[in-house]
Amino acid sequence: MAQYDYDLFVIGAGSGGVRAARLTAMTGRKVAVAEEFRVGGTCVIRGCVPKKFMVYASEFAHHFKTAKGYGWTIPEPSFNWTDFITAKDIEIARLSGIYTANLGKAGADLIHGKARLADAHTVEVLGKDGKVERTITADQVLIATGGKVWVPEDMPGIEHVITSNEAFHLPKLPKSILIAGGGYIAVEFAGIFAGLGSDVTLVYRGPNILRGFDDDVRAHLTDQLTKRGVRIILGTQHEAIEKTESGLMNRLTNGITCETEQVMFAVGRRPYVDGLGLEKAGVALTESGAVKVDEFSRTTASNIWAVGDVTDRVNLTPVAIREAVAFVETAFKNNPSKFDYNDIPTAVFSQPPVGSVGLTEHDARQAFGKVDVYLSRFRPMKYAFTGGEERMLMKVIVNPANDRVVGVHIVGPEAPEMIQMVGIAVKAGVTKTVWDSTCALHPTLAEEIVTMREKYVPPELQAAE
Ligand code: NDP
Repeated sequence: MAQYDYDLFVIGAGSGGVRAARLTAMTGRKVAVAEEFRVGGTCVIRGCVPKKFMVYASEFAHHFKTAKGYGWTIPEPSFNWTDFITAKDIEIARLSGIYTANLGKAGADLIHGKARLADAHTVEVLGKDGKVERTITADQVLIATGGKVWVPEDMPGIEHVITSNEAFHLPKLPKSILIAGGGYIAVEFAGIFAGLGSDVTLVYRGPNILRGFDDDVRAHLTDQLTKRGVRIILGTQHEAIEKTESGLMNRLTNGITCETEQVMFAVGRRPYVDGLGLEKAGVALTESGAVKVDEFSRTTASNIWAVGDVTDRVNLTPVAIREAVAFVETAFKNNPSKFDYNDIPTAVFSQPPVGSVGLTEHDARQAFGKVDVYLSRFRPMKYAFTGGEERMLMKVIVNPANDRVVGVHIVGPEAPEMIQMVGIAVKAGVTKTVWDSTCALHPTLAEEIVTMREKYVPPELQAAE
C-alpha cells in the first residue's frame, strides 16, 4: 500500500499547474489537481486568450479605415458588444474543456474546490460552504495558484472601479472609460476600448508608460496611442472617485477632474496565496508576499514546489509552463533542471503592439558601459499608401566588445510575431555581423531590421561620443 494517496498534488489548474500535472501523470505517477474556479487559469479564462480576442475585435476599426484608402466602400460599420462577448465566452469554454480533457487523457484526477495545506503532505479540499470536504495526502505538492488583481482598497470610491476581471464581461461597451495604470494590462485595454469606440483616458503615475521597457519604445508608443485617440495623462494618480448621476467623477492628485462612464484599475497583480495554509506546511513567503522558491522552484518545505505567478519571478504564461517542465524534470525524472530567464521575448498587445527581447538600451549601458544602437522609424508601406500617421520603430542594441546583439525592440504591426523569431537569434548569441549578413526579404516590414547599418547616438550623448 502506497504511503500517500497521490505522488503529486497540484493546487491550481492554470498554465503551470496543468502542464506539471499532465507531464507527471504521463510518467505513470498518480496525480491530482485542485481548481476552485475554471480549468485554464488566468491566461485562458480572464487573461491572455480572451484579451487577444478583444484585441482582434477592436483592430477591425483600424482595418476598416485603411480599407477605404485602398478603394473599398464600407457602409458605416457597427459593433455588437453582446454578440462578441457571447462568441468569446463560447470559445473560452471550449478551450477550458480542452484543458480539462487533456488532464483526463494524461490520467490526472481533477478535483473541484479550494485546496489548502494542513501540513507538508496533507491537503484539505473545501466545499462551497468553506468546510473541509476531503483530506488527501501526497508525496509532493506543487503550488500553482497564480496571481490576483490588486487595487488600493483604501482609496475613496474604489468600490466603483472595475478591473480586468470585469472588463471581459461588462454588460455593455462603455461610452467613456478611464484606465489607471501604465503596465501591460492598462495599455492593452486602452487600445481595446479605443478601437471599439470608447473614449479612453489613461492615467499613469510615472513619467512615461511601460516602465521597464526601452525608453524609445515607451516614447514611441505614447505618441502612437495618442494619435489613435487615447488621452494619456502622466505623473498623476487617483485621489478619489465619486459616483455622479451620469457616471464616475475621477479626482486626480494634480487637480484634474474628469467624468467617465467606467473606471478600470490596472495597477498590478499580486501572488494568490490567500488561505493556502502555507505556514502549516513550512512554506515561507518573500518580502513582497510571493512563495519563496529556489532556482529549481522548490519552496522552503522540501517536498513542496511552486511555479508561475505565485512565485512572482517573470509573470508570463510561457515562463510558468517552462518552470513547470523544469519542475517535473527535477522532481520526477531525476534530471535537476532550471529555467533560463535570459532573453525571454515579450509582447504588449497594445495598438500598435510592442515586441521586445533582451536588454533595453539603458540596461545594456549599465551592463557593458558602451553599446552600439541601431534605430529606425519609418512609415509601414501599408499605411503610407493611405497617408496614415502610423510609424514603426525598430531598435537593435549591440555589445561592441563581442559584437553580440543583446536587445531588440519593435513597435508596430506584427511586432510580437517578429520578436518571437528574433528571439531565437538573440538567444543563440547572434553577432551583428551575422545579423547584417542575413538577406532582406522584400517587401516586408521585418526587412528593415537586417538593413540598419548606421549607428544611432541618442541626442543626449551626441556631445560625448
Ligand atoms: P504591471 O506590473 O505591468 O503594471 C502595473 C502598473 O500599475 C504600473 O504602471 C504601476 O506603476 C502601476 N501601479 C502600481 N501600483 C500603483 C498604485 N498604487 N497607484 C497607481 N498606479 C500603480 O501590471 P499589470 O497589472 O498591467 O499586469 C500584471 C502582469 O501580468 C504583468 O507584469 C505581466 O507580467 C503580465 N501580463 C502580461 C501580458 C502580456 O504578456 N502581453 C498582458 C497582461 C499582463 P509603476 O510602473 O510606477 O510601478
